[in-house]
This record gives sequence, C-alpha cells and structure tokens, in this order.
Amino acid sequence: MNNTLDVREASSAVRRYDVVVLGAGASGLAAAVSAARSGARTLLVEAGSIVGGELLTGMAIDGALNGRGEWVVGGFARELFDECERLGGYVGPLCDWRLIWYVCVDPEVMKLAVYRVLARHNVDLLLHTFVTSVTAAAGTVSAVNAVNKAGRLELAADVFIDCSGDGDLATMAGAAALPADPKHPGLQPVSMMFRMAGVDTARLTDFVRRHPENCALGESEAIRGGRTDQQCAEEIHRQGQPTVFFKSSGPLLKHAIESGEMYPTALIMIQPTSAQRREVCLNTTRVGGVNGTDTASLSAAMGALLDQVWQCVRFVKARVPGFEDAHFSGVASRVGIRETRRIAGDVVLNEEDVHHGRKRADGIGKGSHHIDIHETGLGQVRIPVDDGGSYDIPWGCLLPRGLSNVIVAGRCLSADRPAHGSARVMGPCMAMGQAAGTAAALVAGDRLPGVRALPVETLRARLRAGGAILDGTR
Ligand SMILES: Cc1cc2nc3c(=O)[nH]c(=O)nc-3n(C[C@H](O)[C@H](O)[C@H](O)COP(=O)(O)OP(=O)(O)OC[C@H]3O[C@@H](n4cnc5c(N)ncnc54)[C@H](O)[C@@H]3O)c2cc1C
Repeated sequence: MNNTLDVREASSAVRRYDVVVLGAGASGLAAAVSAARSGARTLLVEAGSIVGGELLTGMAIDGALNGRGEWVVGGFARELFDECERLGGYVGPLCDWRLIWYVCVDPEVMKLAVYRVLARHNVDLLLHTFVTSVTAAAGTVSAVNAVNKAGRLELAADVFIDCSGDGDLATMAGAAALPADPKHPGLQPVSMMFRMAGVDTARLTDFVRRHPENCALGESEAIRGGRTDQQCAEEIHRQGQPTVFFKSSGPLLKHAIESGEMYPTALIMIQPTSAQRREVCLNTTRVGGVNGTDTASLSAAMGALLDQVWQCVRFVKARVPGFEDAHFSGVASRVGIRETRRIAGDVVLNEEDVHHGRKRADGIGKGSHHIDIHETGLGQVRIPVDDGGSYDIPWGCLLPRGLSNVIVAGRCLSADRPAHGSARVMGPCMAMGQAAGTAAALVAGDRLPGVRALPVETLRARLRAGGAILDGTR
C-alpha cells in the first residue's frame, strides 16, 4: 500500500466559470453572491473549512452606518442581516457612544446565514482549496491554479476577483503592493476575538455609568452631541446593551496593565452577540510585529494570543461588575489579521478622503468608520470622519494597476495606511464585494475586453438597483 499523500493532477483539468472569486470572508461572500445574482456562473474558492471569515467571530460589523446612525451600506449586507434576523440572530444596530454605530449579530447564527445566502444564489463553492499560482499573459489572467486533497485544479474565468485579504491573486498576477508608509510604519497587530456568556448586562452598564472614567466616550462630536462623558455613559445604560470600550488610560485597565494582571493593550471592547446566552464578544488581545503573509510568524502568534484570551477572562471575572458569573464561551477559529498587502490600484483612497468624507462621481460604495489603526501595546489611532459622515470608495481603488481582468475587494483595496484603517472594516468590505461581483458579471456577460471598459455609471446604476447605497447620506 502506498501511504504517501498523492496530490495528483486533476483528471478533469480545467473548470471554466464566468467569474472566480478568491476568499470567502465578508468581501468575497458579497462578491460571489453579487456576481451570481447578476447572472454569472460563479465559483467561490476558500482555503479554510468554512465561509464567513471574521463575520463568524462575534465582532460587530462596523461601517454599515455612519456616525449619525444612517445606513450607508445596503444590498448584500442588508440581505445577510435579514437572513440573520429570520434565524433569530440579529441584535441590530447600536451606538457605542464613543465613535460609531455598529451592527451586532450572533456569530453562530451567522454561520448558517452566510451559507443560506450563498446557496440561494447558486454560487459554486470550493472549500479547503488553496490558490497557489495564476496563468497570465500581458496583464490578463486566464486561470488560477489551486490545490486540495482531490488534486491540482485549474480554474478558468473571464474575470477574477481577489478577496483574499492579502491580495494573493493580484500579487501572483504581477500587481504591486503599495509601499510602507513612513508616517505610519508597521502593520496592525494580529488578535483573537473571543466570547463570554452569562454576563449581567445591567450590572455592567451600571458600572459604566458610575465609572465613566474607565471608558472611551464621545470621541466624535456627531456622537457626543454636546453631552458630557457622564451623559454618554448614561446613554449606554439607557440603550440597555453591553456596548463598552474600556480604555488603557482609564484606571481600571491602566492599573491592571501596570500590575501585570493584564497584558499591554489599548482596549477591552465589549459588544453583544446574543441576548439568549447573555453573551458578549471581547476585542482586546494583540500581538505586534506579525506579518500575516508569513505563515511561520502567524502560527507562532497563536499561543501568545490564546494566553491573552485566558488572562482577560480571569481579569474581567475578577474585576468587572457583571462578569462575576460569566464564562468563556468561544474563541475565533483563526488568528485575526487586520492588515497585510494594500494592492496598488488606479486610484489610491487617502487619509483626507476619509477624514473629510469626500464624495465622488466614481464611488461604488461607502465607508464611514473612523481611521482606526491599532498599534502594538497601548497605542491606537482613532480619527473620526468629519460630521459623522461617510466617504465614497472610488471604483479605481478596486482595479489593480497593470491587470485587465482582475478586481480586488475588501481589506486588500488600494488605500494609504490611514484610509485602509477605515475601509478595512466589514461594512465597506461588503460594499466593495458587491461592486466587484456586479462589475465582474457585467464584464463577463457583455464580453467586454476588460474591467476598465465598463462605464462606472453603468456599474453605479446596477448597484443602486441591487440595493447598494451610493448617495443621499451624509
Ligand atoms: C482582530 C480583528 C478585529 C476586527 N474588528 C472589526 C470590527 O469590530 N468590525 C469590523 O467591521 N471589522 C473589524 N475588523 C476588520 C475586518 O474584520 C476585516 O478587515 C474584514 O473582515 C476583511 O474581510 P476580507 O473579506 O477582505 O478578508 P478576509 O476576511 O481576510 O478573508 C480572506 C479569505 O481569503 C482566504 N484566502 C486567502 N488567501 C487564499 C488563497 N491563496 N487561497 C484560498 N483562499 C485564500 C482566507 O482563508 C480568508 O478566508 C477586525 C479585524 C480583525 C483581524
């Protein structure tokens, strides 16, 4: 008996589609569903064992509403939220009384919801499949090459959408990544999200209103609305949901870090996931100096992150009212990567665009999240969009320079580091995915010579018809 693993050439050689999407995170799901919904034969390829990416960790979905509480992302995101609601796993939009409105969901329900939406739109799915190279000539990709336990596969398509987060496909096809930013050097730290159930929300928010000095509050005037910190804390209590951000400069966390009870971190961010389980998600762990495209360093970070998870569980149970009887209820299934390659596109979204909420005639989706750059240790840059508004993401940010039939979407978009710190969150990722998928289907269906042959007005009209929000908001 031959006991070596035999990765064979796939017998059926080439599989042909109109559109191939790489990566089944927030952007890839939106891209695949939107392409299929627009009539394209669509394949979604994912290296992991499940679809949904960070949508499944319990973190809130940021950037779907602006700081005024207006929806700025619709379409695919709306369909997904509606599916969560039908399945009983939609907590809904909440204000954090600091900087943002976010959408909270039950991540266990989300696992079902994403799959149901994919299935509804007849997206072909290939899990456990790693894309290793592309076949390309003169800036046009004819196929991506992948491997899984069944063998090697060649996946051909008219248009390819890179939602790998790391820009793998675009890079393999020859696209450049944007250079490091001397003003903001480094990459954001990696983290592991985790959850705790059995939390007494009323006790927790009562602690917040009695000790607002521990919390980040009213960091944007659009949210603060002239209130004092104390009044912002009262609003959290009134909202009745555990939307709490313990800051590293507040006495609670500061003393814990100084005494070694907690690891150095900028925050413990707490958001609800399920009222039935009285469960919250905690965003706090962090390890810096890790490049998410370096598998060895990513793997090495796992142990330290899991140690931090347990340290924080012990800390909140011991020190934070409302957590006394809570218990650890789940951890993300993978190390969370905030930032790797930003692919150089025809247009580079920049800090000013985001900060000043710039609107554009070539916008294909919106972002509204603050410039949010986590740093190693205690640091985090947080700069709100002016006036609690939103900015438009130009179509050119999704078009890698030098490639004719590749679109990128999600956290590998073309943006400088500060703008990326905003556009990387899941609301805009889904908006970009919807734009990429819709465009790819139009290009494939009309047999256009490349993605740049599609007039952006045609794309915008199709996006509006698909429920995307392109105008009419701050
Ligand atoms: C710790 C952490 C906290 C965050 N907090 C928030 C928050 O509170 N709210 C919010 O909205 N956003 C938050 N973000 C940001 C947001 O979650 C991500 O930026 C966003 O989900 C990225 O989505 P994406 O689809 O672009 O990429 P990803 O979710 O990274 O998906 C890429 C997918 O591509 C697959 N893939 C990659 N390369 C290959 C390959 N070669 N072959 C096959 N498959 C491949 C991967 O397996 C992966 O599933 C956070 C991120 C992290 C890491």
